[in-house]
Amino acid sequence: KGERLRLPPWLKTEIPIGKNYNRLKNTLRDLNLHTVCEEARCPNIGECWGGGEYATATATIMLMGDTCTRGCRFCSVKTARQPPPLDPDEPYNTAKAIAAWGLDYVVLTSVDRDDIADGGAEHFAKTVTNLKERNPQILVECLTPDFRGDLTAVEKIALSGLDVYAHNVETVRELQRHVRDPRANFDQSLSVLKHAKKVKPTVLTKTSIMLGLGETDQQIINTMTELREAEVDCLTLGQYMQPTKRHLKVEEYVTPERFAHWEKVGSDMGFTYTASGPLVRSSYKAEHLMKHKSSS
Ligand code: SF4
Ligand code: SF4
Repeated sequence: KGERLRLPPWLKTEIPIGKNYNRLKNTLRDLNLHTVCEEARCPNIGECWGGGEYATATATIMLMGDTCTRGCRFCSVKTARQPPPLDPDEPYNTAKAIAAWGLDYVVLTSVDRDDIADGGAEHFAKTVTNLKERNPQILVECLTPDFRGDLTAVEKIALSGLDVYAHNVETVRELQRHVRDPRANFDQSLSVLKHAKKVKPTVLTKTSIMLGLGETDQQIINTMTELREAEVDCLTLGQYMQPTKRHLKVEEYVTPERFAHWEKVGSDMGFTYTASGPLVRSSYKAEHLMKHKSSS
């Protein structure tokens, strides 16, 4: 077994705390919402919740509980074959809470629920519809599971009124089996993204790749090319971080310069928006992407 790599200086960040951050954190308690931002201890939380450059706030809300039916080797979410049943009031209550929360951009995501017939697609779609009814201004991104390739499920969400359809391929084609649960694969994920675009061409599609898992440059280029061919609009690339010792080791800490290089490659390939950096997460600064959309 190899040594664990040392954390490079660019990843040692302080979490900045602002006024808006504290306000969101406090209301969150009362609303009983679970955010990936907090549960994954995301280092961008101060910036996302505080508003930052554009003075808008973003958060990532988890639907359908905290227990996943899958077990990807990079992910610290807990796993069970039969997680607790869905809360039928969640779409309504979550929409109500988010609408009252004063966010400008929200990412709705979930664990994979292979135990439910439609994978929870209806549940997702209802949440979006309820939220847009209450607050038509809020921009909504859904970061969805692959629904085992069930395109009816994808369609339900793509037509729910959302602005951005996101689904992560997570890593290059060659490392799928090594990194993701065996029920996931590259072509299945690609079919999800393609279908969302096909049924609703005005929706932006988006995906995310982690670097530092042992992929080669050529594999990154090939993967990006395939994504562009599938008409994926937005791409984010970030550093993989090992959540616990039981998870996949980091093979490489990719330098900020190298991330900047990939961002350039992405723009040259014609992605509407590419965000690439050590701390970039799938939902990081998601609002930038809408600025791009409205200015293009
Ligand atoms: Fe939350 Fe995503 Fe921002 Fe992290 S990057 S704080 S998970 S919205
Ligand atoms: Fe984690 Fe998603 Fe994999 Fe479940 S499907 S283990 S939530 S990455």
